[in-house]
Amino acid sequence: MHLKDYTGVIHLHSAYSFDGRAPIPEILVAARKCGIDILLLTDHSTLQAREEGFEGWRDGILLIVGEEIAPRFNHYLAFGLGKAVACAEREPDLPPQAYIDRVRDEGGMGFIAHPDHAGTAMFHVKHYPWTDWSVTGFTGMGIWDFMTDWQNSLSCRIRAVLSYAFPALFLRGPSPATLARWDRLTQERRVVGIGELDNHDSLKHLWRIPIPVFPFFRVFDLIRTHILLEKPLSGESRDDIAAILTALRNGRLYVSFDHFRTASGFSLTLTEEGREVTMGDEFILHRAAELRVSLPERARIRLIRNGNLFCKSTAKEIFVTLCEPGVYRVEADLKAFGRYRPWIFSNPIYVFCP
Ligand SMILES: [Zn+2]
Ligand SMILES: [Zn+2]
Repeated sequence: MHLKDYTGVIHLHSAYSFDGRAPIPEILVAARKCGIDILLLTDHSTLQAREEGFEGWRDGILLIVGEEIAPRFNHYLAFGLGKAVACAEREPDLPPQAYIDRVRDEGGMGFIAHPDHAGTAMFHVKHYPWTDWSVTGFTGMGIWDFMTDWQNSLSCRIRAVLSYAFPALFLRGPSPATLARWDRLTQERRVVGIGELDNHDSLKHLWRIPIPVFPFFRVFDLIRTHILLEKPLSGESRDDIAAILTALRNGRLYVSFDHFRTASGFSLTLTEEGREVTMGDEFILHRAAELRVSLPERARIRLIRNGNLFCKSTAKEIFVTLCEPGVYRVEADLKAFGRYRPWIFSNPIYVFCP
């Protein structure tokens, strides 16, 4: 199975958000410089970027316009919408199940955003976690959010200065609570895990000095979502947006932290008697299937089955024979600057008995 790997960034805010500052052309310049293929924009309660003609191919970048529904808690990223579905300012008490359903009724899909966001007192950022886990019908959830992870490092002013100067050195990976919840959910149904940036380029103040958090060119190599397609994109905006959204819906993607080494080229496949599947796919296991994990560089690999460690190895490639059904996904850590750092988080392959 040869898949095309497109480098995407999901969840970012432009000047169309009340708390964003960067005009879209400026974001596109930064994305081009950083080698991004696809941007999934999520301004608050608006699809204005699309109305003003920015959606589609823009000089080598495919821009897809979604919406972030962001009341006090339970932020939700919606894509594939004909119109913006909910305005948190006008309907602050709308229950999350109501906007999840509205997104589905509009033919769209949605992702629970930064579910374990904790905020930071230092920059007067409140906490914005997901609190209502009784909901159903969402497509997936953020498993690693740059802003959540980075803000967790801001425990004192000196650390804040260092962490602002070198954000990549301070990222610690997805919260274990987020991964544990995701693993529980995927044992019931497909729940797609995405990476989030949630950058606004907003001005914050430290010692009364205004600090942009962050100019986009500084963070586009941090948390990315690689989207896998069977056929290369055609250059035709409508078709290509549909292809990307289909892959997103099916979980044909992995999340990575590309600052030290791009994860492009990572692959996870499962094969039995000529049948082959990859992440996001379902597989009927007859006797024994061969799982192959291949990385662009040697790394510490963990294969997770139903939320538990199934096997681990430090290698560039591993082969594992699977004889049992389960939900299998891969994590990999890359050694950089003297320590192993979280690098790749795949979506699962869902393995069933006949
Ligand atoms: Zn949010
Ligand atoms: Zn946001």
